[in-house]
Amino acid sequence: MPKVLVLPGDGIGVEVTNVSIDILNIIGERHNIDFEFDTELFGGASIDEHGVPITDEVIAKAKASDAVLMGAVGGPKWENLPHENKPESGLLALRKELDAFANLRPAVVYPALADASTLKREVVEGVDIMVVRELTGGIYFGQPRGIEKLEDGQERGFNTLAYTTSEIERIARVAFDIAKKRKKRLTSIDKANVLEVKQFWRTTVTRIQETEYPDIELEHLYVDNAVMQLIRRPKTFDVILAGNMFGDIISDEAAQLTGSLGMLPSASIGEGAIYEPVHGSAPDIAGQNMANPIAMVLTSAMMLKYSLNLDQAAREIEEAVERVLEKGFRTADIYHEGMTKLGCKEMGEEMAREIKNHKEAPLL
Ligand code: NAD
Repeated sequence: MPKVLVLPGDGIGVEVTNVSIDILNIIGERHNIDFEFDTELFGGASIDEHGVPITDEVIAKAKASDAVLMGAVGGPKWENLPHENKPESGLLALRKELDAFANLRPAVVYPALADASTLKREVVEGVDIMVVRELTGGIYFGQPRGIEKLEDGQERGFNTLAYTTSEIERIARVAFDIAKKRKKRLTSIDKANVLEVKQFWRTTVTRIQETEYPDIELEHLYVDNAVMQLIRRPKTFDVILAGNMFGDIISDEAAQLTGSLGMLPSASIGEGAIYEPVHGSAPDIAGQNMANPIAMVLTSAMMLKYSLNLDQAAREIEEAVERVLEKGFRTADIYHEGMTKLGCKEMGEEMAREIKNHKEAPLL
Protein backbone atom coordinates (compact mmCIF):
# COMPACT_ATOMS: atom_id res chain seq x y z
CA MET A 1 0.00 0.00 0.00
CA PRO A 2 1.79 3.23 -1.12
CA LYS A 3 2.09 5.70 1.77
CA VAL A 4 1.80 9.29 0.59
CA LEU A 5 2.17 12.33 2.83
CA VAL A 6 -0.04 15.09 1.40
CA LEU A 7 0.90 18.70 2.17
CA PRO A 8 -1.60 20.98 0.43
CA GLY A 9 0.03 24.11 1.89
CA ASP A 10 -1.52 27.52 1.22
CA GLY A 11 -3.58 29.42 -1.33
CA ILE A 12 -4.23 27.53 -4.56
CA GLY A 13 -2.02 24.74 -3.20
CA VAL A 14 -5.08 23.48 -1.34
CA GLU A 15 -7.38 23.75 -4.36
CA VAL A 16 -5.09 21.95 -6.80
CA THR A 17 -4.16 19.27 -4.25
CA ASN A 18 -7.86 18.44 -3.74
CA VAL A 19 -8.23 17.86 -7.48
CA SER A 20 -5.12 15.75 -7.56
CA ILE A 21 -6.22 13.49 -4.71
CA ASP A 22 -9.60 12.92 -6.41
CA ILE A 23 -7.77 11.88 -9.58
CA LEU A 24 -5.41 9.57 -7.68
CA ASN A 25 -8.36 7.91 -5.95
CA ILE A 26 -9.97 7.21 -9.32
CA ILE A 27 -6.68 5.82 -10.65
CA GLY A 28 -6.40 3.76 -7.47
CA GLU A 29 -9.84 2.22 -8.07
CA ARG A 30 -9.00 1.36 -11.68
CA HIS A 31 -5.71 -0.29 -10.78
CA ASN A 32 -6.50 -1.71 -7.36
CA ILE A 33 -3.99 0.54 -5.66
CA ASP A 34 -4.90 1.30 -2.08
CA PHE A 35 -3.21 4.67 -1.53
CA GLU A 36 -2.72 5.61 2.09
CA PHE A 37 -2.99 9.42 2.15
CA ASP A 38 -1.99 11.26 5.29
CA THR A 39 -2.73 15.00 5.06
CA GLU A 40 -0.84 17.53 7.19
CA LEU A 41 -0.50 21.30 7.56
CA PHE A 42 2.48 22.93 5.87
CA GLY A 43 3.74 26.46 5.25
CA GLY A 44 1.54 29.35 6.37
CA ALA A 45 -1.21 26.99 7.49
CA SER A 46 1.25 25.28 9.84
CA ILE A 47 2.57 28.63 11.11
CA ASP A 48 -0.99 29.66 12.05
CA GLU A 49 -1.59 26.42 13.92
CA HIS A 50 1.83 25.47 15.33
CA GLY A 51 3.99 28.59 14.98
CA VAL A 52 6.44 26.87 12.56
CA PRO A 53 6.21 26.17 8.80
CA ILE A 54 6.80 22.47 9.33
CA THR A 55 6.76 20.47 12.56
CA ASP A 56 9.23 17.73 13.48
CA GLU A 57 6.34 15.30 13.45
CA VAL A 58 5.54 16.13 9.82
CA ILE A 59 9.21 15.79 8.86
CA ALA A 60 9.26 12.35 10.52
CA LYS A 61 6.13 11.39 8.60
CA ALA A 62 7.73 12.59 5.35
CA LYS A 63 10.73 10.34 6.01
CA ALA A 64 8.46 7.37 6.67
CA SER A 65 6.40 7.90 3.47
CA ASP A 66 7.00 6.53 -0.01
CA ALA A 67 6.50 10.05 -1.32
CA VAL A 68 5.45 13.56 -0.33
CA LEU A 69 2.90 15.30 -2.52
CA MET A 70 2.78 19.02 -1.87
CA GLY A 71 0.80 21.94 -3.27
CA ALA A 72 2.44 25.31 -2.65
CA VAL A 73 3.26 27.51 0.31
CA GLY A 74 3.35 31.20 1.09
CA GLY A 75 1.25 34.30 0.85
CA PRO A 76 1.09 37.97 1.92
CA LYS A 77 -0.01 37.07 5.46
CA TRP A 78 3.39 35.52 6.25
CA GLU A 79 5.60 37.66 4.01
CA ASN A 80 7.05 39.85 6.75
CA LEU A 81 8.09 37.09 9.13
CA PRO A 82 11.83 36.63 9.74
CA HIS A 83 13.44 34.52 7.00
CA GLU A 84 13.76 31.34 9.09
CA ASN A 85 10.06 31.44 10.08
CA LYS A 86 8.70 32.00 6.57
CA PRO A 87 6.59 29.31 4.89
CA GLU A 88 9.28 28.81 2.22
CA SER A 89 11.86 27.84 4.85
CA GLY A 90 9.66 24.84 5.67
CA LEU A 91 10.11 23.69 2.09
CA LEU A 92 13.88 24.11 2.24
CA ALA A 93 13.96 22.19 5.54
CA LEU A 94 11.97 19.37 4.02
CA ARG A 95 14.25 19.13 0.96
CA LYS A 96 17.29 19.07 3.24
CA GLU A 97 15.87 16.46 5.61
CA LEU A 98 14.98 14.18 2.69
CA ASP A 99 18.37 14.85 1.04
CA ALA A 100 16.52 15.70 -2.15
CA PHE A 101 19.55 16.14 -4.41
CA ALA A 102 17.86 15.66 -7.79
CA ASN A 103 15.36 18.11 -9.19
CA LEU A 104 13.28 16.80 -12.09
CA ARG A 105 11.52 19.34 -14.28
CA PRO A 106 9.70 18.08 -17.36
CA ALA A 107 8.81 20.53 -20.12
CA VAL A 108 6.13 19.19 -22.42
CA VAL A 109 4.47 21.19 -25.17
CA TYR A 110 0.99 19.80 -25.81
CA PRO A 111 -0.15 20.19 -29.43
CA ALA A 112 -3.32 21.92 -28.18
CA LEU A 113 -1.24 24.55 -26.39
CA ALA A 114 1.62 25.00 -28.85
CA ASP A 115 0.42 28.51 -29.68
CA ALA A 116 0.89 29.58 -26.04
CA SER A 117 4.66 29.36 -26.50
CA THR A 118 6.63 32.43 -27.51
CA LEU A 119 8.37 30.25 -30.13
CA LYS A 120 6.83 29.16 -33.44
CA ARG A 121 4.48 26.18 -33.34
CA GLU A 122 6.63 24.12 -35.72
CA VAL A 123 9.65 24.57 -33.43
CA VAL A 124 7.93 23.60 -30.17
CA GLU A 125 5.09 21.26 -31.06
CA GLY A 126 5.91 17.82 -29.66
CA VAL A 127 8.67 19.02 -27.30
CA ASP A 128 9.08 16.57 -24.41
CA ILE A 129 12.15 17.26 -22.28
CA MET A 130 13.13 16.22 -18.76
CA VAL A 131 15.66 18.47 -17.05
CA VAL A 132 17.55 16.77 -14.21
CA ARG A 133 19.24 19.38 -12.03
CA GLU A 134 21.66 18.71 -9.19
CA LEU A 135 20.06 20.50 -6.25
CA THR A 136 22.21 20.30 -3.13
CA GLY A 137 25.77 20.95 -4.33
CA GLY A 138 27.73 23.14 -6.70
CA ILE A 139 28.23 26.87 -6.48
CA TYR A 140 25.05 27.56 -4.46
CA PHE A 141 26.48 25.63 -1.51
CA GLY A 142 30.27 25.60 -2.06
CA GLN A 143 32.65 26.93 0.61
CA PRO A 144 34.39 29.31 0.98
CA ARG A 145 31.91 32.00 0.03
CA GLY A 146 31.36 35.59 1.06
CA ILE A 147 32.21 39.23 0.50
CA GLU A 148 35.54 40.38 1.94
CA LYS A 149 37.39 43.66 2.33
CA LEU A 150 40.69 43.90 0.49
CA GLU A 151 43.77 45.80 1.67
CA ASP A 152 43.48 48.29 -1.19
CA GLY A 153 40.02 49.33 0.08
CA GLN A 154 38.06 47.39 -2.53
CA GLU A 155 35.67 44.59 -1.69
CA ARG A 156 35.67 41.13 -3.28
CA GLY A 157 32.70 38.77 -3.62
CA PHE A 158 33.44 35.07 -4.11
CA ASN A 159 31.81 31.65 -4.32
CA THR A 160 33.18 28.17 -4.84
CA LEU A 161 32.12 25.73 -7.53
CA ALA A 162 33.07 22.18 -6.54
CA TYR A 163 31.66 18.70 -7.13
CA THR A 164 32.89 15.41 -5.68
CA THR A 165 32.90 12.08 -7.52
CA SER A 166 29.94 10.74 -5.55
CA GLU A 167 27.88 13.90 -6.04
CA ILE A 168 28.27 13.66 -9.82
CA GLU A 169 27.80 9.89 -9.93
CA ARG A 170 24.51 9.90 -8.01
CA ILE A 171 22.89 12.66 -10.06
CA ALA A 172 24.15 11.10 -13.30
CA ARG A 173 22.58 7.76 -12.32
CA VAL A 174 19.23 9.47 -11.66
CA ALA A 175 19.38 11.06 -15.12
CA PHE A 176 20.47 7.85 -16.90
CA ASP A 177 17.73 5.85 -15.13
CA ILE A 178 15.14 8.37 -16.33
CA ALA A 179 16.55 8.28 -19.86
CA LYS A 180 16.11 4.50 -19.75
CA LYS A 181 12.37 5.00 -19.25
CA ARG A 182 12.22 7.55 -22.08
CA LYS A 183 13.94 7.85 -25.48
CA LYS A 184 17.34 6.72 -24.14
CA ARG A 185 19.11 9.99 -24.94
CA LEU A 186 20.96 12.13 -22.42
CA THR A 187 22.54 15.55 -22.91
CA SER A 188 24.97 16.57 -20.18
CA ILE A 189 25.61 20.30 -19.85
CA ASP A 190 28.94 21.69 -18.67
CA LYS A 191 31.66 24.24 -19.36
CA ALA A 192 34.48 21.73 -19.64
CA ASN A 193 36.46 24.01 -21.95
CA VAL A 194 36.98 26.58 -19.18
CA LEU A 195 36.35 25.03 -15.75
CA GLU A 196 38.27 22.09 -14.24
CA VAL A 197 35.26 21.12 -12.15
CA LYS A 198 33.18 20.81 -15.31
CA GLN A 199 35.91 18.83 -17.08
CA PHE A 200 35.73 16.46 -14.10
CA TRP A 201 31.91 16.47 -14.42
CA ARG A 202 32.22 15.45 -18.09
CA THR A 203 34.70 12.60 -17.56
CA THR A 204 32.68 11.27 -14.61
CA VAL A 205 29.40 11.30 -16.54
CA THR A 206 31.14 9.61 -19.50
CA ARG A 207 32.56 6.89 -17.24
CA ILE A 208 29.14 6.18 -15.70
CA GLN A 209 27.65 5.91 -19.20
CA GLU A 210 30.38 3.56 -20.46
CA THR A 211 30.36 1.28 -17.43
CA GLU A 212 26.68 1.26 -16.40
CA TYR A 213 24.48 2.62 -19.18
CA PRO A 214 26.03 1.64 -22.54
CA ASP A 215 22.56 1.58 -24.15
CA ILE A 216 21.96 5.30 -23.45
CA GLU A 217 23.17 7.75 -26.08
CA LEU A 218 25.22 10.49 -24.38
CA GLU A 219 25.85 13.96 -25.78
CA HIS A 220 27.89 16.70 -24.05
CA LEU A 221 27.15 20.39 -24.67
CA TYR A 222 28.82 23.51 -23.35
CA VAL A 223 26.24 25.55 -21.50
CA ASP A 224 26.42 28.54 -23.85
CA ASN A 225 25.75 26.30 -26.83
CA ALA A 226 23.06 24.37 -24.92
CA VAL A 227 20.93 27.45 -24.21
CA MET A 228 21.02 28.26 -27.93
CA GLN A 229 20.23 24.73 -29.10
CA LEU A 230 17.35 24.52 -26.64
CA ILE A 231 15.45 27.25 -28.46
CA ARG A 232 16.75 26.29 -31.90
CA ARG A 233 16.03 22.55 -31.90
CA PRO A 234 14.14 21.78 -28.64
CA LYS A 235 12.53 18.64 -30.07
CA THR A 236 15.88 16.86 -30.33
CA PHE A 237 16.38 16.87 -26.53
CA ASP A 238 15.19 14.03 -24.32
CA VAL A 239 16.85 14.12 -20.87
CA ILE A 240 19.11 17.04 -19.92
CA LEU A 241 21.55 16.68 -17.01
CA ALA A 242 23.10 19.73 -15.38
CA GLY A 243 24.73 20.94 -12.17
CA ASN A 244 22.92 23.24 -9.79
CA MET A 245 23.46 26.65 -11.38
CA PHE A 246 23.34 25.62 -15.05
CA GLY A 247 20.31 23.45 -14.21
CA ASP A 248 18.57 26.38 -12.55
CA ILE A 249 18.89 28.41 -15.73
CA ILE A 250 18.23 25.62 -18.23
CA SER A 251 15.11 24.37 -16.41
CA ASP A 252 13.52 27.82 -16.54
CA GLU A 253 14.43 28.19 -20.20
CA ALA A 254 12.88 24.78 -20.96
CA ALA A 255 9.76 25.74 -18.97
CA GLN A 256 9.38 28.88 -21.04
CA LEU A 257 9.10 26.73 -24.19
CA THR A 258 5.75 25.52 -22.86
CA GLY A 259 4.34 28.94 -22.07
CA SER A 260 2.37 28.41 -18.85
CA LEU A 261 3.19 28.12 -15.15
CA GLY A 262 -0.06 26.31 -14.46
CA MET A 263 1.12 23.35 -16.59
CA LEU A 264 4.50 22.59 -15.01
CA PRO A 265 5.09 19.69 -12.61
CA SER A 266 8.32 18.95 -10.75
CA ALA A 267 9.93 16.58 -8.29
CA SER A 268 12.87 16.71 -5.91
CA ILE A 269 14.19 13.27 -5.11
CA GLY A 270 16.97 11.69 -3.06
CA GLU A 271 16.64 9.71 0.17
CA GLY A 272 12.99 10.73 0.06
CA ALA A 273 10.90 12.25 -2.70
CA ILE A 274 8.90 15.48 -2.83
CA TYR A 275 6.51 16.08 -5.70
CA GLU A 276 5.38 19.66 -6.22
CA PRO A 277 4.16 21.87 -9.05
CA VAL A 278 6.55 24.63 -10.16
CA HIS A 279 4.04 27.37 -9.36
CA GLY A 280 3.47 29.03 -5.99
CA SER A 281 0.35 29.68 -3.93
CA ALA A 282 -0.94 32.39 -6.32
CA PRO A 283 -2.56 34.65 -3.71
CA ASP A 284 -4.07 36.79 -6.51
CA ILE A 285 -6.45 34.00 -7.54
CA ALA A 286 -6.59 31.86 -4.37
CA GLY A 287 -10.06 30.86 -3.16
CA GLN A 288 -11.70 31.81 -6.46
CA ASN A 289 -11.75 28.39 -8.13
CA MET A 290 -9.58 29.82 -10.92
CA ALA A 291 -6.34 27.85 -10.54
CA ASN A 292 -5.16 25.50 -13.24
CA PRO A 293 -4.90 22.08 -11.55
CA ILE A 294 -2.97 20.47 -14.44
CA ALA A 295 0.53 21.16 -13.04
CA MET A 296 -0.47 19.44 -9.81
CA VAL A 297 -2.20 16.54 -11.54
CA LEU A 298 0.89 15.98 -13.72
CA THR A 299 2.97 16.20 -10.54
CA SER A 300 1.00 13.32 -9.07
CA ALA A 301 1.59 11.37 -12.31
CA MET A 302 5.33 11.92 -11.82
CA MET A 303 4.98 10.51 -8.31
CA LEU A 304 3.34 7.37 -9.71
CA LYS A 305 6.11 6.97 -12.27
CA TYR A 306 9.25 7.82 -10.32
CA SER A 307 8.47 6.77 -6.73
CA LEU A 308 5.79 4.12 -7.03
CA ASN A 309 6.73 2.45 -10.34
CA LEU A 310 3.16 2.71 -11.62
CA ASP A 311 4.02 3.76 -15.17
CA GLN A 312 0.75 2.71 -16.78
CA ALA A 313 -1.31 4.61 -14.18
CA ALA A 314 0.87 7.69 -14.73
CA ARG A 315 0.36 7.43 -18.48
CA GLU A 316 -3.42 7.34 -18.05
CA ILE A 317 -3.28 10.62 -16.16
CA GLU A 318 -1.02 12.23 -18.77
CA GLU A 319 -3.32 11.06 -21.57
CA ALA A 320 -6.38 12.41 -19.74
CA VAL A 321 -4.67 15.82 -19.58
CA GLU A 322 -3.95 15.68 -23.31
CA ARG A 323 -7.55 14.77 -24.10
CA VAL A 324 -9.18 17.54 -22.03
CA LEU A 325 -6.91 20.03 -23.77
CA GLU A 326 -7.73 18.59 -27.19
CA LYS A 327 -11.43 18.95 -26.36
CA GLY A 328 -10.87 22.66 -25.77
CA PHE A 329 -11.28 22.79 -22.00
CA ARG A 330 -9.17 25.57 -20.47
CA THR A 331 -8.70 27.28 -17.13
CA ALA A 332 -8.39 31.07 -17.26
CA ASP A 333 -4.55 31.10 -17.44
CA ILE A 334 -4.46 29.14 -20.72
CA TYR A 335 -7.81 30.29 -22.12
CA HIS A 336 -8.23 31.80 -25.54
CA GLU A 337 -11.29 32.57 -27.61
CA GLY A 338 -13.35 29.66 -28.85
CA MET A 339 -12.32 27.39 -25.96
CA THR A 340 -14.48 26.33 -23.00
CA LYS A 341 -13.46 28.13 -19.81
CA LEU A 342 -13.59 26.02 -16.64
CA GLY A 343 -12.83 26.53 -12.97
CA CYS A 344 -10.25 24.48 -11.09
CA LYS A 345 -12.78 21.99 -9.74
CA GLU A 346 -14.56 21.56 -13.07
CA MET A 347 -11.27 21.00 -14.89
CA GLY A 348 -10.57 18.25 -12.35
CA GLU A 349 -13.98 16.72 -13.05
CA GLU A 350 -13.28 16.67 -16.79
CA MET A 351 -9.96 14.91 -16.24
CA ALA A 352 -11.64 12.43 -13.90
CA ARG A 353 -14.30 11.75 -16.56
CA GLU A 354 -11.62 11.13 -19.17
CA ILE A 355 -9.87 8.60 -16.95
CA LYS A 356 -13.10 6.81 -16.02
CA ASN A 357 -14.33 6.65 -19.63
CA HIS A 358 -11.05 5.52 -21.05
CA LYS A 359 -11.64 2.19 -22.81
CA GLU A 360 -8.39 0.47 -21.90
CA ALA A 361 -8.85 -2.12 -19.16
CA PRO A 362 -6.84 -1.68 -15.97
CA LEU A 363 -3.50 -3.42 -16.36
CA LEU A 364 -2.54 -4.02 -12.74
P1 NAD B 1 3.01 32.12 -8.18
O1 NAD B 1 3.54 30.96 -8.93
O2 NAD B 1 2.23 31.84 -6.98
O3 NAD B 1 2.14 33.04 -9.16
C1 NAD B 1 2.67 33.76 -10.28
C2 NAD B 1 1.52 34.11 -11.24
O4 NAD B 1 1.11 32.92 -11.94
C3 NAD B 1 0.27 34.63 -10.55
O5 NAD B 1 -0.34 35.63 -11.34
C4 NAD B 1 -0.63 33.44 -10.43
O6 NAD B 1 -2.00 33.73 -10.40
C5 NAD B 1 -0.27 32.62 -11.68
N1 NAD B 1 -0.39 31.18 -11.42
C6 NAD B 1 0.48 30.41 -10.72
N2 NAD B 1 0.05 29.16 -10.68
C7 NAD B 1 -1.11 29.13 -11.35
C8 NAD B 1 -2.05 28.10 -11.64
N3 NAD B 1 -1.88 26.84 -11.22
N4 NAD B 1 -3.14 28.43 -12.34
C9 NAD B 1 -3.33 29.66 -12.79
N5 NAD B 1 -2.49 30.68 -12.56
C10 NAD B 1 -1.40 30.41 -11.84
O7 NAD B 1 4.29 33.02 -7.79
P2 NAD B 1 4.34 34.35 -6.90
O8 NAD B 1 3.13 35.18 -7.12
O9 NAD B 1 5.67 34.91 -7.18
O10 NAD B 1 4.35 33.83 -5.40
C11 NAD B 1 3.19 33.74 -4.57
C12 NAD B 1 3.55 33.06 -3.27
O11 NAD B 1 3.94 31.70 -3.55
C13 NAD B 1 4.75 33.69 -2.56
O12 NAD B 1 4.51 33.64 -1.19
C14 NAD B 1 5.91 32.79 -2.97
O13 NAD B 1 6.95 32.83 -2.03
C15 NAD B 1 5.24 31.46 -2.99
N6 NAD B 1 5.91 30.45 -3.86
C16 NAD B 1 5.91 29.19 -3.39
C17 NAD B 1 6.46 28.19 -4.15
C18 NAD B 1 6.39 26.78 -3.62
O14 NAD B 1 5.65 26.51 -2.69
N7 NAD B 1 7.14 25.85 -4.18
C19 NAD B 1 6.98 28.46 -5.43
C20 NAD B 1 6.93 29.75 -5.90
C21 NAD B 1 6.38 30.77 -5.10
